Amino acid sequence: MLNGYAGTILRIDLTNEKIEKQPLPAELAENFIGGRGFVAKTLFDELPAGADPLGPENLFIAASGPLSGQFMPASGKTHFGCKSPATGGYGDSNLGGHFGPALKYAGYDMMILTGRAAVPSMIVIEDEKVTLEPAGDLWGMGSLSAETRLKAEMGEDFQILTIGPAGENGIAFACITHDFGRQAGRVGIGSVLGSKNIKAVAVKGTGSIPVNDPKALLEEGKRAYRDVRAKPGFTGWTPEGTAGITDWVTRVGALPTKNFQTSYWDRHAKINGAAILRELKITDKGCYCCPTPCGKYGKAKTGLGEVYVEGPEFETISLLGSNCLIDEISEIAYANYVCDELGLDTISAGVVCSWAIECYEKGLLDREAIGKDVQFGDLASVVHLLECIARREGVGDLLAGGVKSAAQKLGQGSEAFAIHVKGLEWSGYECRNAPGMMLAYMTSDIGAHHARAWVLGHDLAGSSGSVHDLISSEGEAEPLPKSEVVGRAANVIASQHLRPLFDLLGICRLQFMELGFEVEHYERLYEVVTGRRMSWEEMLSVSEKVWQLTRSISAREIPGFGRSWDYPPERLMGEPVPDGPNQGHCITRKEVDILLDEYYAMRGWDANGIPKAETLRQFGLEEIAAGMDNWACHRAA
Ligand code: SF4
Repeated sequence: MLNGYAGTILRIDLTNEKIEKQPLPAELAENFIGGRGFVAKTLFDELPAGADPLGPENLFIAASGPLSGQFMPASGKTHFGCKSPATGGYGDSNLGGHFGPALKYAGYDMMILTGRAAVPSMIVIEDEKVTLEPAGDLWGMGSLSAETRLKAEMGEDFQILTIGPAGENGIAFACITHDFGRQAGRVGIGSVLGSKNIKAVAVKGTGSIPVNDPKALLEEGKRAYRDVRAKPGFTGWTPEGTAGITDWVTRVGALPTKNFQTSYWDRHAKINGAAILRELKITDKGCYCCPTPCGKYGKAKTGLGEVYVEGPEFETISLLGSNCLIDEISEIAYANYVCDELGLDTISAGVVCSWAIECYEKGLLDREAIGKDVQFGDLASVVHLLECIARREGVGDLLAGGVKSAAQKLGQGSEAFAIHVKGLEWSGYECRNAPGMMLAYMTSDIGAHHARAWVLGHDLAGSSGSVHDLISSEGEAEPLPKSEVVGRAANVIASQHLRPLFDLLGICRLQFMELGFEVEHYERLYEVVTGRRMSWEEMLSVSEKVWQLTRSISAREIPGFGRSWDYPPERLMGEPVPDGPNQGHCITRKEVDILLDEYYAMRGWDANGIPKAETLRQFGLEEIAAGMDNWACHRAA
């Protein structure tokens, strides 16, 4: 018995309809903790090298962590992993809600799907009873609609994951939806579930999880809730949730605007957290055991219709809002709803739509290609594009692979303003005046995603007071001073270990990040739950090991993988910001290379960004080091 864990891995071979249960290996729990750690280790060990991301050989993994489902604040996170259809490399995404705890209460720490079901199906888990059931009548249905129907038929006790038409149609930015508005949005994880012919997973768990010291957990859990509630930011942060950051991001000139053409929008006050309270919000909505419910459930009335929707949170506001020049919060919420129902990640969807509209403005895509005249600031244009994409109709087929793939197909210079790294569309912070944050996006292991590392605040509080002083806006930029490069690379690396650590434990990071909830709580809770003492530093070193592992997976899977995969798009690497607080600022290719040189050296990677064998051995990853000569990164793309 492993305290803190359900103790079983559920494996379903969909091709052969074979369901197996195996004990969770103690060394997996001890060496990789859970969640993202389980996902990365399993992918490295079991994914056939060179697998087609949408082929039956890819794995779909769902994993919780030792603190998931425990009596403590915000313990409801579930991590999902696969070879990403967006990047071709390592992919993971997570969601809150209640699925992970339910899976654990049903008896499983991890579910691994392989193969492909013969017909559209759903997986039903009711404690030890696991069945694969036909779901042809759900196929084609929206994600929210399918969840509504399944809840009505199966009962509220089931926690349900669904995909929408986008996941069924192999869209590279299809998401998984749960709890009517919680998404595992990134890397195309919804398409991987769809490629396995799985429309939904429903789980009901009524068991319990062994805990080393239940009495101490009760005390520590109560203390943790008391301490969260006593934090100075407790009452201020929750009402607006992540949308509350919109004004600050605008003020510092980091708000993606008009397909990242600029980073400031004077209409931000129409789409900020206050606008949500004023125009949309009905109630707060939170995940399992969360004392700070950041979800905002509301009603949006627009010219296209009225919808009930959870959101928009900040990322959606920035990518479907300012980045598409939609300046009505109700319209952003409507586009959010359309994405949720179609099963599209709102971040990638916003970037893809804004790229397509810019192509139209530049005459690279015409009315015939798109199916209608489109323009920035027009909700109907965005909704038209979203519906085409999810169903691969018309221009949707071009856009289905994401912005990198679409730009490669269209050419004509459109790659310069396709805003992504590694094929994953850029999330909500424009960084031409924030070298550290730019480096964080460049080196994120899944592609351009803010949740891996967030150092924007540190960038702005740099030793010289402002990043404005670090980069010349004219001609050949001054290289960043060495001390600044080292500081920024070190900060990015530290953040890349810190944020994903919460994904190992199976809990939400926002109480720590937003309210300053102390790490001692997590150390103590981990100890009373598992019976093992692990300092925060020791946990961070596991997170660092997982970072080496995820980079290795991409190096193994992607032909030609290396430094060129870490570059930002041309728009963000040489095109100065045209207006706003950061007017004239940009980062040059030379500076990008200086940052990468330092980052790779600190990581123990070679000059091309590939982990060195001795580095992998340092982390006990000998078996990985042994096979690295065969990695695809050594072959031409
Ligand atoms: Fe979920 Fe938000 Fe609470 Fe985190 S803070 S657990 S994302 S509701």
